[in-house]
Amino acid sequence: MGNQPLIVLSEESQRTSGKDAQSMNITAGKAVAEAVRTTLGPKGMDKMLVDSAGSVVVTNDGVTLLTEMDIDHPAANMIVEVAETQEDEVGDGTTSAVVVSGELLKRAEDLLEQDIHATTLVQGYRQAAAKARETLEEIAIDVDADDTEILHQIAATAMTGKGAESAKDHLADLVVDAVRAVADEDGIDTENVKVEKVVGGSIENSELVEGVIVDKERVSENMPYFVEDANVAIIDGALEVKETEIDAEVSVTDPDQLQQFLEQEEAQLKEMVDTLVDVGADAVFVDKGIDDMAQHYLAQEGILAVRRVKSSDATRIARATGAKPVSNIDDISEDDLGYAGSVAQQDVGGDQRIFIEDVEDAKAVTMILRGGTEHVIDEVDRAIEDSLGVVRTTIEDGQVLAGGGAPEVELSLALRDYADSVGGREQLAVEAFADALEVIPRTLAENAGLDPIDSLVELRSAHDGGDTAAGLDAYTGDTIDMAEEGVYEPLRVKTQAIESATEASVMLLRIDDVIAAGDLKGGSSDDDDDDMPADPGMGGMGGMGGGMGGMM
Ligand code: ADP
Ligand code: MG
Repeated sequence: MGNQPLIVLSEESQRTSGKDAQSMNITAGKAVAEAVRTTLGPKGMDKMLVDSAGSVVVTNDGVTLLTEMDIDHPAANMIVEVAETQEDEVGDGTTSAVVVSGELLKRAEDLLEQDIHATTLVQGYRQAAAKARETLEEIAIDVDADDTEILHQIAATAMTGKGAESAKDHLADLVVDAVRAVADEDGIDTENVKVEKVVGGSIENSELVEGVIVDKERVSENMPYFVEDANVAIIDGALEVKETEIDAEVSVTDPDQLQQFLEQEEAQLKEMVDTLVDVGADAVFVDKGIDDMAQHYLAQEGILAVRRVKSSDATRIARATGAKPVSNIDDISEDDLGYAGSVAQQDVGGDQRIFIEDVEDAKAVTMILRGGTEHVIDEVDRAIEDSLGVVRTTIEDGQVLAGGGAPEVELSLALRDYADSVGGREQLAVEAFADALEVIPRTLAENAGLDPIDSLVELRSAHDGGDTAAGLDAYTGDTIDMAEEGVYEPLRVKTQAIESATEASVMLLRIDDVIAAGDLKGGSSDDDDDDMPADPGMGGMGGMGGGMGGMM
């Protein structure tokens, strides 16, 4: 072999090692954070995303932005995952989590340049994160699940600065009622709160229906619009005569035979309907089709029937009414029926829908969201999702924190104190972590057009004086008591954000070698310190660097 290097990688693969790899990953992570930064907080701006097909999303929601942005740099994707985890775990705090990740990487970069080893950094960051969690738990405020006022404030805080802002109070009431309605002994599954979007009317007209709304009409015009005190049946199949499995050819030799054949089919359908009548069904929801003849018989009996009901809707109807889905009509019994005080077809914004209401204990509810245009409603819907998430989390955990940057400033102080006890080079990492968390109040101030340094100085001195809930009033620029102001977030929003931001940045910092099969969008990185890199190393983020740049 002589001096020839041994080549173990295929020709197409690309390898970036050592400092270049680190710097490439840090740049990518920072770029993701930079992309969502301006949306943070009550005064955050929105972004408009246009996909290749020309469809438009206008949003302020961190996770929506990042998933819609079509990012394909591997390191950048790890930061996107931070937002996704946050969304899954708590439903809110996605932007904060990503912004903190970016800042942790940025501070790490400075330390790496001072020849602090990545392993030391990682160690320090982990220690700081553990201490941060402890501190947050100490300053958390206990909340009773029955405390409607505070739940309302939490619901409203999550909607601040989003499209839902204008009707925040009204929507917060709906959210709290909805979460309470679906709570049961197994916990709270916000999937049982269905959001129906209706274009037309104003957000204020949004309402909560304790029951289920199915986006369908009754199958035949001859059926009643409305049934009172309805026994509800759910059929997990069709109201049709079964086709034979094998392709059988029936040859008909005279017209009588055909008549007989049809009559037999009719008789079968009549029998099905009779079975439903016998058990006392008044409203029938069918998973598949309903034969014309069966429709006719059902209408004659005054039964309201709906066909091709989505299985998710069927599940909700079952939950709300207590009906048990039956796959074979012959097996149906009275026990399988559920009950609703009212099943009715109603007009919502020009569309016909079936409302299943007045159930004893809803357990599945529908929120009708109204708004001027589709884009407006979509954004309100995302705000509602966040809000449902925080109310659920609060009821589950019973602990909240005052918002407006208060927890981050408090943590930053506590961590600087703690750093002294850590000593060694890890101390620098803990201090860097403390500085990094201040990116939240700093960004809240920047986005509100305030001077971030002035705001931070004031906040720090308030916390120094023992005011753990002092936060930034983004509207006036004053330092105020956020708890008094009613700006609350669940404890878990913050602990989860810190945990995933730490893990993701630690993971990126530990990488000293990137080996990509094929063309890694990028290659080596230069030392450009720009947050929105023009760097070829960020080729994969081109859409962001160019397209988004103009909007920020
Ligand atoms: P995220 O995706 O991280 O939830 P948001 O845009 O919802 O991002 O902003 C959340 C931040 O805004 C939190 O730090 C929260 O405390 C803060 N915040 C929310 N409402 C207010 C308010 N009325 N005044 C000041 N800060 C607020
Ligand atoms: Mg939020």
